[in-house]
Amino acid sequence: MGAASKYFKNIYDSVTTIFEGMTVTFSYMFQKPVTIQYPNKMPEPLQKSLPDRYRGFLQVDYDLCTSCEACAKACPIDCISLDGVKVPGRKGKVPYFFHINLAKCMFCGLCVEPCPTDAIYFTKEFEGAWASVKNQVYSYVPEEVSLKFLEEAKKAEANKEKKVTEEAS
Ligand code: SF4
Ligand code: SF4
Repeated sequence: MGAASKYFKNIYDSVTTIFEGMTVTFSYMFQKPVTIQYPNKMPEPLQKSLPDRYRGFLQVDYDLCTSCEACAKACPIDCISLDGVKVPGRKGKVPYFFHINLAKCMFCGLCVEPCPTDAIYFTKEFEGAWASVKNQVYSYVPEEVSLKFLEEAKKAEANKEKKVTEEAS
């Protein structure tokens, strides 16, 4: 092939290649877009389409928790801290604080497995945009509940001491 033929063949190849590429590009101009504006134009919340075993943020039901600490002991990186008190009418202890450092948590699920009451579980919530990894310690017992538990425990302890004193006298 001569130099002139090669030159014109290159031009032909370039034009046909561009044309082929643009045909694909232009074809999308007449199709319904497959992309969706997230999150405000989703047909339904994304959480609904997530599988049941999805590991989102952890949640703790303080009404079910017996403060056995099995979850805290199972956590390989010490994300969980809690303490409980005995109150009348409740099995085990009630947690008056239950903290999880979500900045450290790696969502491994080792805390969920040993829980005897299913008090700690994964949710499907994953949207947590944080400006800083500091102070991501979440409290799962509201302050008013915590104060109520402590007050009940104090009263129960006082009643117990009173009973012991009365029995001894
Ligand atoms: S999911 Fe894993 S890392 Fe997170 S708190 Fe539970 S045991 Fe710890
Ligand atoms: S294992 Fe369950 S019941 Fe025990 S402290 Fe953790 S959340 Fe509470």
